[in-house]
Parts: sequence; C-alpha cells; structure tokens
Amino acid sequence: MSELNRAELNGKGALVTGSTSGIGWAIARALAQAGADVLLNGFGDPGEIEARRAGLQQETGVRVHYDGADMSNGDDIARLMDEAAGAFGPIDIVVNNAGIQHVAPIEAFPAEQWDRIIAINLSSAFHTIRAALPIMRERGWGRIVNVASTHGLVASKNKSAYVAAKHGIVGLTKTVALEAAEDGITANAICPGFVRTELVDRQIAAMAAERGRETDEVAHEFVSEKHPNGRFVKPEEVGALAVFLCSDAAASITGAVMPMDGGWIAQ
Ligand code: NAD
Repeated sequence: MSELNRAELNGKGALVTGSTSGIGWAIARALAQAGADVLLNGFGDPGEIEARRAGLQQETGVRVHYDGADMSNGDDIARLMDEAAGAFGPIDIVVNNAGIQHVAPIEAFPAEQWDRIIAINLSSAFHTIRAALPIMRERGWGRIVNVASTHGLVASKNKSAYVAAKHGIVGLTKTVALEAAEDGITANAICPGFVRTELVDRQIAAMAAERGRETDEVAHEFVSEKHPNGRFVKPEEVGALAVFLCSDAAASITGAVMPMDGGWIAQ
C-alpha cells in the first residue's frame, strides 16, 4: 500500500459493526491500513478478539478499540455510541456490517429469527446512523457504508427475513444520503454476492450434509449457480471498496447501491 493511500484516512475514527470475523474484519483491517482509528465490534472468544485487536494496532500503528455491544439491542447501541464519543473519539465513519442469516420457507420461519434478523441486519443501522449523524454534521464530514447484499436487490427462496432486511437497508441508505447530502456526508450500500465467510460456510455445510456430498464440490456449485464468474467475492475486495467510499475521491458518490457479485444481477 502506498504512503498516499496509508495517509488517506489519517485522523478519522471508524466504527465497524460485526468486525470480529468475515467481511467486517476485512473492512476494519483495510480502514486501519488506510490510517483510520478503528472501533471493532462483534461476538467471539474474548482472547481471540483481544489478540486480533492488539495485532491490528501493532501492524498499522493506528488506535484499535473494541466494544462488544449487541447490535440486536437499541439501548446497547446507544450506550456504545455514547461511550465511543468519549474514550474513542468522534466517529467519522460508520460501517454497518453486523449480520446474521436463517434459511427456511416462510411457513416454517421462526418468528423470533425474523425479529432477530430485522433487528441486527436493519434496525441496528438506524440506531448507529441516528446517533452518529449529529457529530458528523458538526464536523462537516462523514461516511456511512452499509453492507447490504445482492439480496438487497434481488430475492432468493427461503431467505424472507434476510431479503427483507437487506432491501430495507438499501432504502435506508438512500434516505440518509438525501438527508445528509448538504453536510459533507455520504451514505452508500455495498451489495456483495457470495463471500466465503462463516455465514456462508454454514449454509454450504448444511447443503453438503443434506446431499451427502463433499463441501468443496457443493461450494463450487453454490457460487457458480449465481456468479457468472464462478468465484466467491474476497472479503479484502469488499474492504478495498469500503476504503474507496470513505476517501475524498468518493465525495460525490452518495445514495449509491453497489453490486460486487461477479455479475449475479447483470443476468
Ligand atoms: P460473519 O458471520 O463472518 O460475521 C458476522 C459478524 O457480525 C461477526 O463479527 C459477528 O460476531 C457479528 N454479529 C452477529 N450478531 C451480532 C450482534 N447481535 N451484535 C454484534 N455483532 C454481531 O458473516 P459475514 O459473511 O462476514 O457477514 C457480514 C455482513 O456481510 C452481514 O451483514 C452479511 O449479511 C453481509 N453479507 C455477507 C455475504 C456473504 O456471502 N458472506 C454476502 C453479502 C452480504
């Protein structure tokens, strides 16, 4: 990474929700490598999270903090945003990434899974944005990056809550973009296709078990069925796009919904 890129986000504070693994971790790493201080969030083994936090801080030289706020809980998010303003400093960049999945036909879809998916994948972004915007407005600069999904643009069977939440976050992104447009703040959504993270590995493992087949074979079919290029999106690719959206070069990109899906929705 060039010195110019490294300095791009120097002095900015970035919250990345759900950044203890997968796409969120890749985005947090990319932002830290671009010079931003990073506030990690998410669940997992406390020792592993601390090792990652300390490792990233040492590798990049930026400040890396962690808060385990539960993104299904509005009060916990309010506490996180409040405390962050003190110990961490102003949040200039919010990446709403925390997300979960549950796959079942709608008649068999547990109501509590519906509520949880809507809370974590959609309402959490409302809460973080609502708390972050006044500070961004005061500072005359802000970046909101929402990790939606191809499922924010098209549906698949058996994913009613996820598809509804992801379509919702696309609408939220556009609305926030309009409301904040005059204050140096942008809001955009990234719509990845399939990225091989724990969230997707669980679906592939379930399909492999159901069909009595090898996991890698099923993974290849799973991605090829939707992605014309036949490959998974890499978490680092999503990280790089997030950094670009946070850069000054992207100041005119707002309210945009960006597929990153190997051609899935071009079909
Ligand atoms: P992942 O399971 O690897 O990571 C999810 C992260 O969210 C973890 O850090 C987890 O601890 C955190 N999380 C879960 N529930 C939480 C809660 N209540 N509070 C705080 N943190 C919580 O999954 P991923 O694939 O990296 O998914 C990240 C985002 O990307 C999600 O919004 C997902 O919908 C989206 N996405 C994923 C794919 C894919 O193919 N993997 C594709 C498109 C979009």
